[in-house]
Amino acid sequence: MADASARINAQKIGLPALDLSVAFPQATPASLFPPSVSDYYQFDDLLSVEERSLRKKVREVMEREVAPIMAEYWEKAEFPFHIVPKLAELAVAGGTIKGFGCPGLSITGSAIATAEIARVDASCSTFILVHSSLAMLTIALCGSEAQKQKYLPSLAKLNTVACWALTEPDYGSDASSLKTTARKVSGGWVLNGQKRWIGNSTFADVLVIFARNTSTNQINGFIVNKGSPGLKVTKIENKIGLRIVQNGDILMQDVFVPDEDKLVGVNSFQDTNKVLAVSRVMVAWQPIGIAMGVFDVCHRYLKERKQFGAPLAAFQLNQEKLVRMLGNIQAMFLVGWRLCKLYESGKMTPGHASLGKAWTSSKAREVVSLGRELMGGNGILADFLVAKAFCDLEPIFSYEGTYDINSLVTAREITGVASFKPAILAKLTQSRL
Ligand SMILES: Cc1cc2nc3c(=O)[nH]c(=O)nc-3n(C[C@H](O)[C@H](O)[C@H](O)COP(=O)(O)OP(=O)(O)OC[C@H]3O[C@@H](n4cnc5c(N)ncnc54)[C@H](O)[C@@H]3O)c2cc1C
Repeated sequence: MADASARINAQKIGLPALDLSVAFPQATPASLFPPSVSDYYQFDDLLSVEERSLRKKVREVMEREVAPIMAEYWEKAEFPFHIVPKLAELAVAGGTIKGFGCPGLSITGSAIATAEIARVDASCSTFILVHSSLAMLTIALCGSEAQKQKYLPSLAKLNTVACWALTEPDYGSDASSLKTTARKVSGGWVLNGQKRWIGNSTFADVLVIFARNTSTNQINGFIVNKGSPGLKVTKIENKIGLRIVQNGDILMQDVFVPDEDKLVGVNSFQDTNKVLAVSRVMVAWQPIGIAMGVFDVCHRYLKERKQFGAPLAAFQLNQEKLVRMLGNIQAMFLVGWRLCKLYESGKMTPGHASLGKAWTSSKAREVVSLGRELMGGNGILADFLVAKAFCDLEPIFSYEGTYDINSLVTAREITGVASFKPAILAKLTQSRL
């Protein structure tokens, strides 16, 4: 045994990596997170006292508990279970839900918390978002009183974790065509089918699953418990973004769900829209948070790193890039904030939410790509955040409706014409009517 391990060691190329402080002493890595300096137009003034104090609390916990470990867990593509109690202390799970042990935050407060989490680590914000704004909110908006009592208090404390399963291998953007089936049997339902990409699913205690009712042909929702016979979840490997998030493939073979775990309020695909409206606002705030973190790291880096006898911050080209990033962030704040206000006043439409998500994710793409340039070689190292943020933004650009699909939702609203199906198919459908 000893011989074998000695041989393997001898075959290794190179030695363990130098500590970054030795390898690159000129600049501080993101494990020691920089101060927040992106609030140039004093957006804080638009927040209530409670929202400001929540922002401060979330920022402190993320910088202290998550920043030092995130590059390592991202690299390993593992979930840091030991920080869940710290995230639970933030009391943000459940977001806007009132009662049942949930925090009942304003949507702006919930959005700010999402951004502050994403500023330090986008995977952590996705973990909370899927758990809270998708799974918990579906139970809160579409569940019975008994289901809310049974599931929400423990989910709010993060004693249990939830996932939300809509996407299937054959139906991504075209999710309403999903083919997982739910067949009525005595005392419950039997689910058969397959889901893909489901965040948190490899360890979730509570799985919210959408399936097509074989009698009505409509989409219904079900709460499936971890370990149910016939349920199999496997991890999707080799992702290049949100590597800390555990995305899974779910296989269901005759999974029995008792009647009391069928979500009473999901009777068609349209019923998922009230959940997606809120969660899209939250997703719109993830790119804002990511852009803030990237700006903060770049701002510090440009002052620390010297070339040609001067800090990188002294070069005009670098200054222009930094200012372009800052300008995008100010505009993103204001769009995100206005979205929250429209929601609070009951005026937000699906098109508003979709435009917000599509636009912030496209603007953040510009921010992270400028940030990556500014960091030079260190712009491809997760240790300096920017490379990680650059990769993490890509799945966000595509999930909860891709940039294109969200643009088409807004376009349908402003033109009155839906263009999701190719014109040729739409014509065929019309000629059959
Ligand atoms: C990291 C990650 C986490 C996720 N988490 C979850 C989760 O927790 N739960 C869940 O249910 N799902 C989840 N998803 C799935 C996600 O919502 C889908 O990936 C997304 O809806 C896009 O579907 P798709 O990947 O199949 O792309 P496709 O639908 O195959 O689209 C491919 C491309 O074609 C374009 N396109 C498709 N249709 C049209 C059209 N009509 N007009 C114009 N362009 C079009 C798209 O914009 C895109 O550019 C996750 C995905 C990722 C990557």
